[in-house]
Amino acid sequence: MSSVVAWRNIGELVTCDASHGTGPLGAVTDAAVVSVDGRIAWVGPSTQCPDADTTHDMDGCCVLPGFVDSHTHPIFGGDRSSEFAARMAGDTYEAGGIRATVAATRATSDEVLRERAAKLREEALGQGTTTLEAKSGYGLTVHDECRSLQAACSITSETTFLGAHVVPQEFAHNPDAYVSLVIGDMLEQSLPYAKWADVFCDRGAFDVDQARHILTACSARGLGLRLHANQLQPGPGVQLGVELKAASVDHCTYLSDEDLAALASSRTIATFVPGAEFSTRAPYPNIRRALDAGVTVALASDCNPGTSYTTSLPFAIALAVRDMGMTPAEAVWASTAGGAAALQRDDIGIIAPGARADLQSLAAANHIHLAYRPGVPLTTGVWVAGQRMR
Ligand SMILES: [Zn+2]
Repeated sequence: MSSVVAWRNIGELVTCDASHGTGPLGAVTDAAVVSVDGRIAWVGPSTQCPDADTTHDMDGCCVLPGFVDSHTHPIFGGDRSSEFAARMAGDTYEAGGIRATVAATRATSDEVLRERAAKLREEALGQGTTTLEAKSGYGLTVHDECRSLQAACSITSETTFLGAHVVPQEFAHNPDAYVSLVIGDMLEQSLPYAKWADVFCDRGAFDVDQARHILTACSARGLGLRLHANQLQPGPGVQLGVELKAASVDHCTYLSDEDLAALASSRTIATFVPGAEFSTRAPYPNIRRALDAGVTVALASDCNPGTSYTTSLPFAIALAVRDMGMTPAEAVWASTAGGAAALQRDDIGIIAPGARADLQSLAAANHIHLAYRPGVPLTTGVWVAGQRMR
């Protein structure tokens, strides 16, 4: 028996399918969507909506794809609220703050790591996120990276090995030995639990040669590539990502004209994480400049306990519109179809026949409200593969 679900009487349907509706969001009004066995089967006018086993009346509200959060660090122990308070009082952020979370994570049991990750996953779902990527990176031993990735696997299939987050304290005087460990035993043991590999290529973390060495080794073992690049200062990280055909280069706080040209002529997505600039009082990058240069852009939460402790993509959208030069339509696209592109997925982040029926409804008539009503929980319904989750 197949299961047919219909959503009808949708005021504004954001499809993110440019071939379907108007504007970059492929928006249509007075629309309906039908899924069969968790896949979207039909999109059309509400008046022509076919019969279904279950019908949801959307009462004129906005429906859009579930958000795709392509950059999170949800596997950690401890809390860095006092570091946040100190930063707000004038301290600056350096990559080394990660080491505080490493100590706390190593001291946290598998069970608690999983519980905490599941809570963040639930929190994200309640705000419309139906897919999230999850990184390791607070273990930094073979054992702790492995169990971090196992915890990540309990909440998502988009898992990322980030053994090269920072050089841990015990290797501070011999970073090359740590790089050897990362591409040796740590990679070997982590492989069964990881789809992607990531490196923090920046001041205080790994330099471009170390990053290239690690990513090349990970790619040779079949992992897709992502990069933390150009967060703390201008640098070679973005162009390294393009050179290695990374799926995504993330942060991009500092981008040169050369970086933009390299990105525009590649398939690498530039992922911006406004929560990190917000939480570190860093300057907001000008996403308008990247868009105008022809770069494909995603927005993500960067959920982590140090520099962006939020799972909210509506918050990222509001900041991107208010402070980074995006239109609401561009920001919504970047959080759905853009996030999917950053994960090289074409079955999510879009409402079109064949895609997984991951949808959310808003207590609003259109998508602009996501930026127009900051801080307000607008998500009223969330469906994953046609199943109601909220
Ligand atoms: Zn990150």
